[in-house]
Amino acid sequence: MVIGAGQMGAGIAEVFAAKQHPVLLHDQKEAFAQAGVDGIEKRLQRLVEKGYKEQEEVASTLSFLTPTADIKRVSEADVVIEAATENVAIKKAIFKELDQFAKKDAILATNTSSLPITDLASVTTRPEQVIGMHFMNPVPRMRLVEIIRGLATRDEVFQEIETLTQQLDKVPVCSEDFPGFVSNRILMPMINEAIFTLYEGVASAEDIDTVMKLGMNHPMGPLTLADFIGLDTCLSIMNVLHDGFGDDKYRPCPLLKKYVQAGWLGKKSGRGFFHYE
Ligand code: NAD
Repeated sequence: MVIGAGQMGAGIAEVFAAKQHPVLLHDQKEAFAQAGVDGIEKRLQRLVEKGYKEQEEVASTLSFLTPTADIKRVSEADVVIEAATENVAIKKAIFKELDQFAKKDAILATNTSSLPITDLASVTTRPEQVIGMHFMNPVPRMRLVEIIRGLATRDEVFQEIETLTQQLDKVPVCSEDFPGFVSNRILMPMINEAIFTLYEGVASAEDIDTVMKLGMNHPMGPLTLADFIGLDTCLSIMNVLHDGFGDDKYRPCPLLKKYVQAGWLGKKSGRGFFHYE
């Protein structure tokens, strides 16, 4: 079962379904969960049109996906991956419910980008079965999965998630439970610095991205990447780094805060540092 049918949850559900694992894709409302499945279908149809996928593969993947708004159906799941909004209160409320209704031996994983696994695990009666399984965006294309043990996570649970990751043709990397793990501890301060560079008027958004693309050989500029990740998610991660390390070098740029207040969340809202159709 995947909790949260947004960009990450839908991607995670798709990669499991493509490997013929039946997946319950959950969101707060049936319509949100259905929109997640519809988005997967639209994306896969585009790949068929371009000749990258066969129609039968798409039909097969879709047949393994079931949208739902009923969290109690977690009782059917062996593995749960929570991919709801990056907010500790929301995630803790979800983990409490999962703990209540999931099978006793089910693994409860979270795709959080930065929140401490140990903290999320603490609201359950089974912290030894809670683990971080951090996919990268876009999930179907990106091969890395960071696996993060909480303080109490059992070795067997780690090994099962590692094996599952490999079965999805992804590459697992182990990280300890420190703010931002490895990926966002390095990536997000770089993005935040790019936003400060814009805020201080050093260069235009286009030029900042061009410097990093052509000068540093990054496939995508940091401001475009921030728009793709979602500016609300970027701000949440910076706040977690700032609070977690207590070091001002992680303070989120005021411009990032302002964009989030305005509802300019990047690609998903149509506007961030750049405009999207
Ligand atoms: P998103 O905004 O696209 O989707 C979040 C989804 O969660 C929404 O559909 C929302 O309706 C749903 N949701 C909120 N509260 C819920 C609840 N109580 N029960 C069920 N569903 C609920 O966000 P996203 O980018 O998919 O991020 C989801 C998670 O993945 C976050 O923890 C984020 O940090 C992490 N993550 C994001 C990226 C990225 O690049 N965006 C990369 C790796 C990990």
